This record gives sequence, C-alpha cells and structure tokens, in this order.
Amino acid sequence: MEIIRLSKSSISTTEKDAVHNVLDQEFLGMGKETQNFEVALSEFFGRSVLCVNTGTAALQLSLQACGIGRDDEVLVQSLTYVASFQAISATGAVPVACEVNPDTITIDVEDAARRITKKTKAIMPVYYGGACGNLNEVYNFAKRNSLRVIEDAAHAFGSTYKNKRIGSFGDITCFSFDGIKNITSGEGGCIVTSDKTVIETIKDLRLLGVEKDTEKRYSGQRSWEFDVTQQGWRYHMSNIMAAIGIEQLKRFPEIAKKRQSLAKLYDEFLQGIPEIKLFARDYDKIVPHIYPIKIQKNRNRDILREYLSKNGIETGVHYKPNHLLTYYNNYSIPPLNTTEKVFGELLTLPLHFDLSRSDVEKVCFHIKKGLSRTDVR
Ligand SMILES: *Cc1c(COP(=O)(O)O)cnc(C)c1O
Repeated sequence: MEIIRLSKSSISTTEKDAVHNVLDQEFLGMGKETQNFEVALSEFFGRSVLCVNTGTAALQLSLQACGIGRDDEVLVQSLTYVASFQAISATGAVPVACEVNPDTITIDVEDAARRITKKTKAIMPVYYGGACGNLNEVYNFAKRNSLRVIEDAAHAFGSTYKNKRIGSFGDITCFSFDGIKNITSGEGGCIVTSDKTVIETIKDLRLLGVEKDTEKRYSGQRSWEFDVTQQGWRYHMSNIMAAIGIEQLKRFPEIAKKRQSLAKLYDEFLQGIPEIKLFARDYDKIVPHIYPIKIQKNRNRDILREYLSKNGIETGVHYKPNHLLTYYNNYSIPPLNTTEKVFGELLTLPLHFDLSRSDVEKVCFHIKKGLSRTDVR
C-alpha cells in the first residue's frame, strides 16, 4: 500500500545541481552563497535579512539581541511547537504559556494581558498554519505595554496580513527553512527586521560573538585578530544550505500556488460535515504550512487517526501544548482550558508540494468513512 505522507520536502534537479556546485567549489561553510540567499530574501521582504542554521536559532538570537534573558518573561501561546518555548528558555527567560483563540489558534491577547508582570519583556505570536489572526491587536497590546514583538512566522513564509507580506513589516519576524516548511534550505531559518541594532548584534551572535566575522566570511576569509564581548553561538548558515534555499525561493511562486490549491480542495471536499470544523482561512492570502481541522461532536480523534493510518494516510496533531510538558509545567493560573480542549480536537491532514488531487480525494473519502464507524463515535 502506498502511504500518503503528512509532509515532506520537494526537491527538484535545480536544488541538486546547486548543491553539487557548492561541493565542487569545496567551500562548504558560510560564504558567498549565504550572502546571496540573504540578498534574495531581502528583496523578497523589502528589508534586512540574516540567515541562521534553524528557525529556533532565529528566535533565540532575536530575543537575545533585544536584551532579553535571565529573569525576564515572554508571553507565548502554549499551543505551539516546542521550538518557540525552547528558544525563549535558551536565553534564560521564562516562557509564559497563554491561551489561544480557538478559531485561529493564535495568541489570545486578553488572556496574555492577565499574565503580564513587571518582568514581561516581549510577546511571541505564532502564525499557526500560516495565518496570523488579529495581528493589529497583538501590536497594539505590545505598544501599550512596551513589549518587543518577536514573531514566530515559521509557518507563514509567503503569507500576507492586510495585503502586506508577513516579514515586510513589524518588529522582528523569524522564519524556519527546515525540511518540511513552505521553503527549505535543508535546515535553516532567518530573521527579518528594520532594527539595525538587532541586525548588527545577530551578525556577531551567530558566529560565536566574533566581531565583524560576517563580512570576512562573505569574502571567503576568516578573522584571526578579533574581540568577543558577549555570549555567542555557532548558528550561522552554510553555503550548502543556502544553495538549496536560493533554488527553493525561485520555485516559491509555484510551491505557494500548489499548497494553496490543495488547501482549497480540502475545504471543498470537507465542508458541510457536522463532525468537522474547518478553519476559516483565505488561501488566496495565506500560504498554508499545514492543513488542520477540528474533530468535534464527541468523535474520537485518536481512533480516527488509527483508522486513517491503517489505510495508508499519515496525519498529525499540531501541537501538544507546552504547559503539559514536564520542563514547562509551571502551574498555569488561570488554567488553559481552551487550549486543552482544542488540543483534543486538532487533526492535521497531509499537505505537501507533491500531493495530488486524487490523494486529497482519498484522504477525504477515508475521513468520511472513518467518522461513520461505531468505534469512532
Ligand atoms: C518549525 C518551527 C519552528 C522552528 O524552526 P526550526 O527551523 O525547525 O528550528 C518554530 N516554531 C514553529 C511554530 C515551527 O513550526
């Protein structure tokens, strides 16, 4: 039986040729290709971009560059990938788990307001599935409370908000280029901002804090005489990764269109089923990283998943709320009831560039069949 995968990379000959080219040059680390990828991304977003080795690193370095660390607090929705939480705690700061709006799975600003303390320095909104919810509300809230906004836009490469591309505006926006995101560089991530101090700081932070090392490496050199004044990390992006990223960015219009049309197909096939709640999303405005639905009316999501798996269909649950993880389960007051309820309902269906119309039909056929089974009721 052929398995319909939940997600996967889509690599064409252009990426393979680009990697081959870097290998032939025998300069594999951070250099010209990395700089070229940053230039291409800067054109895409219309402002400064720095590439790093993961999206998690992008978030961590952005927080550190804002001076956020030990004894500080950062507001973040509990229902996100653990990367958001780990990036915050890596700086020494405390991630403060907040509720989500169940219709968008983006941070519930009213709930976040109840969790503000004197230590709160930033808010990290997560653009679940590719959509950012009411982002104006987040920015107004941040302004009123003098908070930095570090946007976790790992899911939202290419999406727009009020007709502006995410990453083209706002405080600091972080993207991920890991293997299954909207575009990939193998692993990788980037920081987009207009804040020159943040850019200059992260340039050094990603190279062990070695001052002015970025320019040296772009010209194929290394620093021998230098100073270090702060804790840095080895988080730079290699030429190999950048070469993949450059080709994926060129393919992005085609990639975006495919992901959007698959999501629209799911919407079409799954509408009007009483046990399924679809997310209201405009797929002409956003580029979906995942296609989640909610299984309601007391149907058993986990048994449905097993049924789908037996029929060769991989599904996911994005995500286990972080306040339920041992490392982060500092007792949340007030409790996160909405988050826990919605977590029980979420089901992510297969979505990737190489998925076909008939794959989507098969997934939807088995969902309908599965929902009518007595063990799922
Ligand atoms: C993928 C992801 C990240 C981290 O990106 P990596 O490149 O995998 O480190 C952060 N937040 C969310 C919500 C993600 O899905």
